Amino acid sequence: MIRSGKEFNAIFVNVDKRGTLIYIDFEIIPITLPNGELKLVSLGRDITYEKKLFYENEQLKDFDPLTELYNYNGFVRQVEAFLHENPDTTCAFLLIDLVNFSYINKSYSVEVGDQILKEIGKKLKKQFGKNEVVIGRIGGDEFGICFKNIDTQEHLYSVVEKIKSIFDKKIQFSISGYSLSIFIHGGVAIYPNDGITVQKLLENASVALKSAKKENENVIKFYNNLIENKVKNYINAENLLNRAIQKNLFIFHYQPYVDAITQEIIGFEALVRIKEEDGTIHYPNEFIDLLENSHFLDSFRHWAVDEVIQKIKKWEKPVSINISARSFKNRELTEEVLSHTKGLPAPLTIEITERLYMKDPQRSKEMIERLKECKNIQISIDDFGTGYSSLSYLKDMHADILKIDISFVRAMLEDTKSQAIVSAIITLAQALGMKTVAEGVETKEQYEMLKKMGVDYIQGYYFFKPLPEEEIEKLLKK
Ligand code: C2E
Ligand code: CA
Ligand code: CA
Repeated sequence: MIRSGKEFNAIFVNVDKRGTLIYIDFEIIPITLPNGELKLVSLGRDITYEKKLFYENEQLKDFDPLTELYNYNGFVRQVEAFLHENPDTTCAFLLIDLVNFSYINKSYSVEVGDQILKEIGKKLKKQFGKNEVVIGRIGGDEFGICFKNIDTQEHLYSVVEKIKSIFDKKIQFSISGYSLSIFIHGGVAIYPNDGITVQKLLENASVALKSAKKENENVIKFYNNLIENKVKNYINAENLLNRAIQKNLFIFHYQPYVDAITQEIIGFEALVRIKEEDGTIHYPNEFIDLLENSHFLDSFRHWAVDEVIQKIKKWEKPVSINISARSFKNRELTEEVLSHTKGLPAPLTIEITERLYMKDPQRSKEMIERLKECKNIQISIDDFGTGYSSLSYLKDMHADILKIDISFVRAMLEDTKSQAIVSAIITLAQALGMKTVAEGVETKEQYEMLKKMGVDYIQGYYFFKPLPEEEIEKLLKK
């Protein structure tokens, strides 16, 4: 190229003796002498200092000098780069707006206002790891946080709670020793659900923020109502569960089941509730999933087994307990239950759902065999008919009782197919030497039909609702 008479120009990057980068702007100019000979003249100019200034300036363009967070441009640029590299991730975009910030600026001073912004910047940075978030002051008193890689719902709840906790406390400043409570409103949009560009996400987060501003201080709203409700339920359930554990608010209600022919009470199913100090009762649908996945499960289980064993001793009738997937897998539980059941006047019934059994039939079979070494334990297969077990499994289940799922009992009167299924389950159970319980029997018609089909026991509102311990005692005294 140079030989053809064109100039050459390039920037060379080199390392000097001290190891610092130096930039040389290098030029080669071909000159043809009068005799036709081609000579090359090279020029080199050290531009290291200019380069340094350029990069510093570029960086400054992305930063807010007051809080040392990204400014709007920097924030957008950083997040865009991240999303470009990780398009399949899930992120949460949170916009935070300070309540009455202009009032603070006016009534204290702009210095105090600046100090507050600085302090908030520091707290936000301290609370989250650098790789976890991109934080920016993207408006006067508006902060933006992008939480990268939100992999589970729990993760989302925990970051929202963390943000709230920052603003639950007073924020203190060094300027004239002020200590002020700063309140916020927040709006959240989720990538990719609520938008795939940073602009769209910020726009939707700000829609959520607007609706948060209509509510109390320190409210964070979500752009998507479904996510919002999930978060709310989760946080409520978590608070409820914490209260229940700390203050021992768990109780059992006991639902009797009766003999289909004599209508005599045969036994009870223990159903957990949380009873608040003001008497409010919370049902398992509010908290059972969370409890089963929490570290409280062990202590809950100890309490539950203890409680039920006491009742069997007192009432001298079988009482059933529902066992969750995690408990059922736990061998310690089996041993604990076994150690408690010696000398009981009636069996402890363990209910596991058919679905749970079928997750690992071999393992389930072994667990049941171990439990059944004890004469005082019965196994009951709950929600039977919904778990798709095949006949060959049923033969090996070693269960004592099949509980026909409420959905069949509900559909039975109108739908002949459901009727046929119920009838088949009863016949099958009889052939395999198991008893049957029909769940959720609410009407006389259902009861009569089930009795005719030969079901052994009936459980449902038609006879009894789940009742507090005291009510059961009254029933038994009659
Ligand atoms: P499940 O084991 O199928 O319990 C039966 C549910 O049906 C109970 O709801 C009971 O109150 C309700 N029920 C009984 N008779 C009728 C009726 O005639 N009509 C209608 N509509 N419903 C009836 P509950 O107490 O809300 O319990 C819901 C579920 O929570 C239970 O379903 C069980 O899976 C779980 N659960 C309850 N207590 C415990 C516990 O101590 N441990 C575990 N792991 N799970 C529990
Ligand atoms: Ca049950
Ligand atoms: Ca059931």
